[in-house]
Amino acid sequence: MLQELPLRRRPLERHLLPLLAGIAALLAGLCAHAEATHRLSELPYFGTVGLDVDLRQAGRKIIGVHETIPVKSGALTLRYPKWIPGEHSPSGTLDGLTGIQISANGVRLAWRRDLLDMFAINLTIPAGVSCIDVDFQFLSPIDGGRFGQSPSATLHLAELEWNQVAFYPAGVTVRQITVAPSIRVPDGWQFATALEGERGASGITHFAAVSFEQLVDSPVFTGEYVRRIDLAPAAAVPVHLNVFADRPADLAVKPEQILHYTALVQQAVALFGSQHYRHYDFLLAVSDNTGAFGLEHHESSDDRIEADFFTDPDSQLYGAGLLPHEYVHSWNGKFRRPAGLATQDYSEPMQGDLLWVYEGLTQYLGEVLTARSGLWTPEQYNDHLAITAAQMDHRPGRAWRALQDTADAAQRLYYAPRVWGSARRSADFYPEGELLWLDVDTKIRELSGGSRSLDDFAHAFYGMQNGSMQPIAYRFEDIVAALQSVQPNGWRAFLRQRLDSHEVGAPLDGIRRGGWRVAYTDTPSAAFKAIEKVRKLTDRSYSLGIQVSTEDKDAIADVLWGSAAFDAGLVPGMKIVAVNNESFRAEVLDAALVDAMKSRKPIELLVKNISTYTTLPVAYYGGLQYPHLERVAGEPDRVAAIIRAKM
Ligand SMILES: [Zn+2]
Repeated sequence: MLQELPLRRRPLERHLLPLLAGIAALLAGLCAHAEATHRLSELPYFGTVGLDVDLRQAGRKIIGVHETIPVKSGALTLRYPKWIPGEHSPSGTLDGLTGIQISANGVRLAWRRDLLDMFAINLTIPAGVSCIDVDFQFLSPIDGGRFGQSPSATLHLAELEWNQVAFYPAGVTVRQITVAPSIRVPDGWQFATALEGERGASGITHFAAVSFEQLVDSPVFTGEYVRRIDLAPAAAVPVHLNVFADRPADLAVKPEQILHYTALVQQAVALFGSQHYRHYDFLLAVSDNTGAFGLEHHESSDDRIEADFFTDPDSQLYGAGLLPHEYVHSWNGKFRRPAGLATQDYSEPMQGDLLWVYEGLTQYLGEVLTARSGLWTPEQYNDHLAITAAQMDHRPGRAWRALQDTADAAQRLYYAPRVWGSARRSADFYPEGELLWLDVDTKIRELSGGSRSLDDFAHAFYGMQNGSMQPIAYRFEDIVAALQSVQPNGWRAFLRQRLDSHEVGAPLDGIRRGGWRVAYTDTPSAAFKAIEKVRKLTDRSYSLGIQVSTEDKDAIADVLWGSAAFDAGLVPGMKIVAVNNESFRAEVLDAALVDAMKSRKPIELLVKNISTYTTLPVAYYGGLQYPHLERVAGEPDRVAAIIRAKM
């Protein structure tokens, strides 16, 4: 995806028969997949779907849609996208639809929702009708929600995901449905997209016709305050950063930041040795009024981050990995994708079992590129790695839930509650996937005496067919074989051990083999402080075992399962009123932690649980604890070699 930003990870029902029919195809890869299932036609859909989207009321979060769909007489099913690529979930924004009217030659046609699939509507097309008009409004989310279900329009900008504003005829793979899209944006607004088209004199922009799949893969950002930056000057394949903001001041991208993003493009192309896009557009909204996440596409990415991303160093430090992550997805996720995620249309359930590659390897390579491009210094990279390791090393939930199950259950975990995260686990295939791939990278480097690395795997696995945008599916065995060809090793057992493990601690071999170990001191790193600031948290996970929201009246955001705070009876949602009889502030809590280390007396927390006040003594005497990396003597610094810029 959909990246959730680091630590913010903020960020399918099954039909038995299609599933069984699809097994052989899934084993055979993407092209064979379509041939073997015969569930959907691979023949082109007759005629071109017209799709006109009116964004002039985007500021009111009302988007008008007029769609024309060529039809034949008889039964017709229209589908609204349910399983959203990159979200890996049945997260389609069905509840945003209103005012649906279907007509033919000006005569209204009756329709009825499918009782088994809420995302499908059925109707009967009368004889002699060759085209229907579908009119509706999409009510863009006002607040709350995650990812595509979060707010995407303000008074000054709008982020259009086409899957939110289009029906498609059932029965044909979405690769074979041709759509001619158009948009109309507010006067004075500009737009950016991977689609090709020019605004006409009428104010309407008609884009070149594309497949429905490519349309959904090509969002449009439009807005009043825009900056377009060339990140690949003089290169044969253009790459642009398009920044949209609610205020002109938020567009203040610094020259050195532009240099780093330019380096990002160079480093990514050097890593993969290919480009699988005709041109690439980062669509970046810096706004506090829309959701904050990233969603990958083949020739673009839908990136949304805080308004002060370019102007506040902590915000930049916190979010620097966003664009590298989404960019890596053009190779890992879009060009090469797991067979279970290479579906034929948006009603076919997705299978997330290989998300530890799709997202985990993207998380790893994205952060490596963040450092190689200079967006992070080596020290900042190490600090983030330490935070990831600490988080995964405090996951008692691994006793019941292996890493593999976090991927298998991704479609639920993205939308599951975040509290008690250490016990329930979350989309851990991102952070723990990162640790796993560091493990693989350092192992290749160790076994090959430093002559080979995961870069060779990236080059071989993603660098094929330069220029091609035709997705190539892969399975677990393809990953094993590709690793084997880079460096012989027992990769199948290596990976399975880590995917299926119920061991207590996180897999930290990669950090150790990288020449480092995780150590805890009483001083937070700059990266740790930046995360606390941006996420509005006081994070004492590795000492007392709590995170306290600085935004929500000192409510406990989470309690680490099995920590001293847990043993004392603290639960998420409680509010800390006082610490040792003094009004709660982070500084007061920290002083109490230090005092308890000397006095060996429990810390008295006065807490409010709904309407009841209670004093809970917490028997914790370990002082302040924050994660860092510390060099291991005698081991080569392979982490430094990994994050060193190529060329
Ligand atoms: Zn991702």
